[in-house]
Amino acid sequence: MPAGDPPLSLRDLDAIDVEKLSGVGPKTSKSLKTAEIASVLDLLMHYPRRYIDRTREATIANLPVGEQGMVLVEIMKVNARRTRNRRSLVEAVVSDGTGRISLTFFNQPWRERQLKIGMEAVVFGKLDLFNGKKQMTNPVVDLIGVGSEDSKKTGKIVPVYPQSEKAGLMTWDLMKIVAEALRKCEARGIADPVPESVLDDLDLIARHRALVGIHRPEAMGEVTLARRRLVFDELLRIQVKLVQRKRLIERRDRGVEHDTTGALVAQFHDRLAFPLTAAQERAIAEIVHDLGAPSPMHRLLQGDVGAGKTVVAVSALLTAVQGGHQAALMAPTEVLAEQHHLGIAELLDGMIVADAGASLFPDRPLSVELLSNRTTGPDRKRVIAGLADGSVDLVIGTHALIQDKVAFRSLGAVVVDEQHRFGVEQRAALREKNVDDTVPDVLVMTATPIPRTAAMTVYGDLDVSVLDELPPGRTPIVTEWARDGVDEATVWDAVRAAVEAGQQAYVVCPLIEESEKLEVRSAEETYEELSGGELYGLRVGLLHGRVPAADKEATMAQFRRGDIDVLVATTVIEVGVDVPNATVMVILDAARFGIAQLHQLRGRVGRGAVASCCYLVGEATTPDGESRLEALVRSTDGFELAEVDLELRGEGTIMGEKQKGRNDLKLASLRRDREWVEKAREVAFGLIDADPDLDSTPELAAEIELFLGEDEADFLLKS
Ligand code: ADP
Ligand code: MG
Repeated sequence: MPAGDPPLSLRDLDAIDVEKLSGVGPKTSKSLKTAEIASVLDLLMHYPRRYIDRTREATIANLPVGEQGMVLVEIMKVNARRTRNRRSLVEAVVSDGTGRISLTFFNQPWRERQLKIGMEAVVFGKLDLFNGKKQMTNPVVDLIGVGSEDSKKTGKIVPVYPQSEKAGLMTWDLMKIVAEALRKCEARGIADPVPESVLDDLDLIARHRALVGIHRPEAMGEVTLARRRLVFDELLRIQVKLVQRKRLIERRDRGVEHDTTGALVAQFHDRLAFPLTAAQERAIAEIVHDLGAPSPMHRLLQGDVGAGKTVVAVSALLTAVQGGHQAALMAPTEVLAEQHHLGIAELLDGMIVADAGASLFPDRPLSVELLSNRTTGPDRKRVIAGLADGSVDLVIGTHALIQDKVAFRSLGAVVVDEQHRFGVEQRAALREKNVDDTVPDVLVMTATPIPRTAAMTVYGDLDVSVLDELPPGRTPIVTEWARDGVDEATVWDAVRAAVEAGQQAYVVCPLIEESEKLEVRSAEETYEELSGGELYGLRVGLLHGRVPAADKEATMAQFRRGDIDVLVATTVIEVGVDVPNATVMVILDAARFGIAQLHQLRGRVGRGAVASCCYLVGEATTPDGESRLEALVRSTDGFELAEVDLELRGEGTIMGEKQKGRNDLKLASLRRDREWVEKAREVAFGLIDADPDLDSTPELAAEIELFLGEDEADFLLKS
């Protein structure tokens, strides 16, 4: 290899327009661009969706009826009609030389335009007999092109590329273009930025070989090896970015070295009516360790609904207070802030702070204050002055706490409840809070559990503590799915029975995502219907997003006091509402909600000693909806449900809507490739800790920049 021609980096490949490849004219180039393939890099990262292993390919003649299989066929005939109940029906007759079958597509009218006579396609589905004829219903179809000599010339393994309808690209075309691109790369080779020692340790093949293997495998075993390597690369880039960010924050920000030996936290634990769970002990130990360290804590506390996060949070806050600092808890809404304030003030009632260093200030009661938009007049003045002079130890409020011009004498720790509403700006604001440029420790709490490896990816710049154990003595919530009107009648009987027994219930109204106005209307209608019908005679309250704040609080207070039997509400009650006497949760049109949301809503009951139940009302209109509701009936474990959710919805759930550009995981799956997430994270720590700016692996640094430049990385750094 001449000295001037080093192997091609991904950056180099990205700089070569696909048009430069021979065989790619203006028309093909336009199609490629429609499919978002502009450079040779895009092309090489346009991975096959599946492969036909022609050594094991099924034929129409040998695929047994009742079995699933993949056949390579030619389209002979297509016709479209409507069924008696007006459903669209497209039927295609296909042949592979050993026999014919018909493919039946319901509700896919576009198939009529897509399937053209003479085209070749890979069809995957279950072979059935219908009126004595072989057929497949709604099979998966990949068009691979117009039947030609190509199909006979290709090797034993044929890659099948995902195609975009509008681009009009066929698998055969892509095969040829990719082959040409790979041929072009041969002379210089494709560079490998990952240190050889890492590849050796993990038994990974070189990148060039992996790219060839994924596109032009000789045997399926090559695909497996190639995929492993490419999956690792995707995950490694993300992990390096996250770990780098994490280490940067640790180096850049100076935190408070909290006094972790003080008496306040121990006193607090002694006062509790229950022993801590092992999970709480562990989480508190992890947090306290961070608090005592010089760099600011940046930790996520994951714990299912009811796992007892509050006690952990308060322990963190008191650790700051016992060393003479102040602490703040931020809730996502005013209602929740008020509720937290009530609960925490009660937990800490009568506690004394010892002012060890200052003989000027004798021991005094621990001061816990609320600062919300409704804290006004002299109250507000008093709290704000107390924060400034340090006489308020613990303040609870919304984000207004840090956005406002609220000054603290010395803010040492902040707990943020519900991470998804705490963004980058809020964190930046925190850094401005202290006069002496120390950054408070931050603990973010979430009740939406996500699987461990997914957390490593989504919150990869945070440390994570998990409460994976519920306090003992909880009566598990029994969940039932009321599919039809008959079932529903029993639901309202159950509500009435609970009220008769002195308990309370929630009714959650159908979710209407399109418009808050419609949702409010539907909530009002539900309220009218129920209070005049099934729940006639009970004290029913209504809560939705458009109820004025003061009325909302009044209604919540009434419900808390037991002056309302049944609270009809929209998802405004999703998080944090804590009324232990409520034992029945009814969720109307439940199939419309996501798993996480249903689980959160269900978590509003089962908070006391009495057995609680949750009713999911309504039919599921999709198979996924059905699986969701079945999962909820089967399990009350948030982590298990999170796995199901990931299974059903795929990576999108986790990576979020904001995901765009190249940062998406093309091959890697946070679900299937769990072990690789962990390995990539380990490698990332190794690399960054040895060489924080990746000076010794500039190619790796460059490609991370290429894939995860500032904009694109922001989505990874949600909090
Ligand atoms: P989360 O915020 O995680 O949903 P909470 O902190 O609100 O849960 O706790 C739920 C309930 O469990 C509260 O009533 C709390 O007093 C109680 N609790 C917390 N920890 C324990 C424990 N170790 N043993 C028994 N009950 C506990
Ligand atoms: Mg809570």
